[in-house]
Amino acid sequence: MLKENLESVESKIQAACDRAGRKREEVTLIAVSKTKPVSMLKEAYDLGVRIFGENKVQEIRDKYEALPKDIEWHMIGHLQTNKVKYIVDKVKLIHSVDSLKLAETIEKEAEKHNCISDILLEVNVAEEESKFGLKTDEVLPVYEKILQYSHINVRGLMTIAPFVDNPEKNRTIFADLHKLYVDIKEKNIDNDTVSILSMGMTNDYEVAIEEGATMVRIGTGIFGARDYSV
Ligand SMILES: *Cc1c(COP(=O)(O)O)cnc(C)c1O
Repeated sequence: MLKENLESVESKIQAACDRAGRKREEVTLIAVSKTKPVSMLKEAYDLGVRIFGENKVQEIRDKYEALPKDIEWHMIGHLQTNKVKYIVDKVKLIHSVDSLKLAETIEKEAEKHNCISDILLEVNVAEEESKFGLKTDEVLPVYEKILQYSHINVRGLMTIAPFVDNPEKNRTIFADLHKLYVDIKEKNIDNDTVSILSMGMTNDYEVAIEEGATMVRIGTGIFGARDYSV
């Protein structure tokens, strides 16, 4: 099942890139493995998957220990400041930085661990009450503050679009985040640090790619439905 799912996702990513006149290499697939057992991640690993997304600190720690060290772990879920220390030197990218306070903690912990942390700013573009993330107009001021930190690199922006029946309904959200991303890139003309736009999940990644996503986070489409009861 995993193999067929991966092939199907891959061909849809390719088709979306073709429609948008983009190169396949411009889009990185994050296999979102939260709640799934290590055995399933191993199966994906054996099929060539090297980039996994998780949303819980403890789960990343356990899976990090259990699986090969050439895996890139991406933290995509809400991160509490008191847990930053457990993962700051283990994850490749934190997608979910949603406050200056969290950024401050990451800066301190990265300094302690003698590393530089790559992060994305999470933006609640649709301003949904139930979701974390900066409001659109908070992004630039927060970005400029974090620029002064020496152990954090802001690599781009992330959003979780609303759950909708028709993915076309999220197109303007993706387009809005893309616009904001271009604004930030333009503030940074002398370097390429800002190069990641993380948007699109199982239900809407094709639209997200058409609107400029450089990372898509796909769980259900690869691993099947999640069971939260166990
Ligand atoms: C769970 C999750 C995903 C993957 O969702 P699917 O709909 O299963 O593809 C992507 N991004 C975030 C932040 C998530 O928490």
